[in-house]
Amino acid sequence: MKGNWVLVSKLFDETEIARRVEELAREIAVAVAGDFAIVGLLTGSFVFVADLIRVLDRAGLAPRIEFMKLSSYGHGKESSGAPRLIGGAPEDVAGRRFLLVDDIVDTGRTLDYAKSLLAGKGAARVWTCALVDKPSRRKIDFAADFVGFTVDDVFIVGYGIDYAENYRHLPYIGIID
Ligand code: 5GP
Ligand code: MG
Repeated sequence: MKGNWVLVSKLFDETEIARRVEELAREIAVAVAGDFAIVGLLTGSFVFVADLIRVLDRAGLAPRIEFMKLSSYGHGKESSGAPRLIGGAPEDVAGRRFLLVDDIVDTGRTLDYAKSLLAGKGAARVWTCALVDKPSRRKIDFAADFVGFTVDDVFIVGYGIDYAENYRHLPYIGIID
């Protein structure tokens, strides 16, 4: 082991992720059909969004792609509580349909907050999607409309997801202690 590098044990490999993203995009294509915009939550969702939109294209959908940045995590493994918007709120929200995409639903606060933010600006409809769900960690009553994988209470990294800004580059999803 070198420096602060800790061991990552593989949970979902590239093939499993690609297969599940493909299925999810097909589900979304059926349920959300028509005009909509994707709003990815930075930074953790950027790889997922990039893969998802290319499968959505093959399914005949042409969403606009936007991102916004919410904060609450800092550099630890525990959320620091209430999320807040720190950048990139979508404009012209009123009357438009949105699919919010995040990497993980944990307590549920982030996606719930993002959803109410868009709803508060008059969005016609807001669906939510997370690649990974950790239902045992929920602190509020929230369920994402589309979920890729469900996991126990583990801390994951890779495929865009970091620990203190490391590990985002990994092509697979792994668990660190
Ligand atoms: P929530 O607001 O649902 O508690 O948390 C969602 C956010 O917490 C996600 O956007 C993600 O950034 C972060 N998060 C939750 N669980 C994990 C995890 O296992 N690993 C990492 N790296 N981030 C997590
Ligand atoms: Mg996040």
